[in-house]
Amino acid sequence: MNSKVIEKFKLSGKIAATALQHGAKMIKPSVKLVDVCDAVESKIKEMGGDMAFPAQTSINEVAAHYCPEEDDETTYKEGDVVKLDCGVHIDGYVSDNATTVDLGNNKELVKASRDAVNAAIKIIKPGVKLSEIGRTIQKAIENLGFSPIKNLSGHGIGRFIIHSSPSIPNFDNGNNHALEEGQSIAIEPFASTGAGMIYEGSNPTVFMIVAKKPVRSLFARQILQDLQQYNGLPFTTRWLSRKHGIGKTKLAIRELLKAGIIRGYPKLPDVKKGFVSQAEHSVLVFDRPIVITKLE
Ligand code: MN
Ligand code: MN
Repeated sequence: MNSKVIEKFKLSGKIAATALQHGAKMIKPSVKLVDVCDAVESKIKEMGGDMAFPAQTSINEVAAHYCPEEDDETTYKEGDVVKLDCGVHIDGYVSDNATTVDLGNNKELVKASRDAVNAAIKIIKPGVKLSEIGRTIQKAIENLGFSPIKNLSGHGIGRFIIHSSPSIPNFDNGNNHALEEGQSIAIEPFASTGAGMIYEGSNPTVFMIVAKKPVRSLFARQILQDLQQYNGLPFTTRWLSRKHGIGKTKLAIRELLKAGIIRGYPKLPDVKKGFVSQAEHSVLVFDRPIVITKLE
C-alpha cells in the first residue's frame, strides 16, 4: 500500500468518523430516523466524500441494515438502543464505521461492543490470527455478561469494495489465518442480550448490483443507468425515489431483483429479540496500525 493510497484511506475515514459523530449527536427521542441518515449523508458530501453505502440506523433487536425510505415516519423512542453505521469512499477507498447511542438503560451493553472493538484494535498487527481477534472480542463482550453475534463479522475493505476477505470473526472460530501487512479491514463487534445470532428479515431497502444482464422495461433501464454512478457499491430506495418517484423506483427495483441483477440486504434482527449494540472501526494493518475512523 503506497502513501497516496494511505492518505485516501485516512481522508475517507476522517469524513466517515465526522459524519458518524454528527449523526449520533442528533439521535434523541422523537427525531426521525430518516432525518439522521440524511444528515449523515449530507455531511459526507459537504466534506468532499462519497457514500460507500447508504447511512443506516437500526434499533433495539435489529443489529444492522435498517435504512429508512424517504416517507418513513419512524422516530427514535425513549429506551431505544440505536445503532448508526456509515461509510465513505475517496476515489473508491472505503472506510466503514458505526456506533451505538443508548436512549435508555443499556450503558453496559453499549460498553461491551465498544470495549470489544478497542481490545481488538490493541492486538491488530501483521501475523495476528483471526481466531485470536475473535477470542479477544468474545471475551470483552462476555465479560460484561452479553453474547457476541456470531453470524456477523468484520471484513476486508478495498477500492470500491465494502466486503472482502479476510472475514474478522466476533468469536473464536478457530480460523488460524493471520492478518497481513497492508490489509485494510473493518472490525465490528456486536453485543446482544439475546441469542447472539441474527436472521435476515424482509423488505430490504438496501441493494447492490450483483450481475450484468439486460432488462426489459424502460423504468428498470433508466434506474440501472442511474446506478452506474455508484460503481457497484450499495444504494438505497430513498436515493432513487427522490429522483425518479416512489412508484417508478419500486417497479424498477422489483424487476431488477427478479432478474437477479440486484440483491437486497434486509434488516438483521436477533433471533431471540435481544437488544444489540455495535461498534466499528476501519483499520490499516501495519506494525503500528492506523485506525482511519478514529478522530484525533
Ligand atoms: Mn462493516
Ligand atoms: Mn458498517
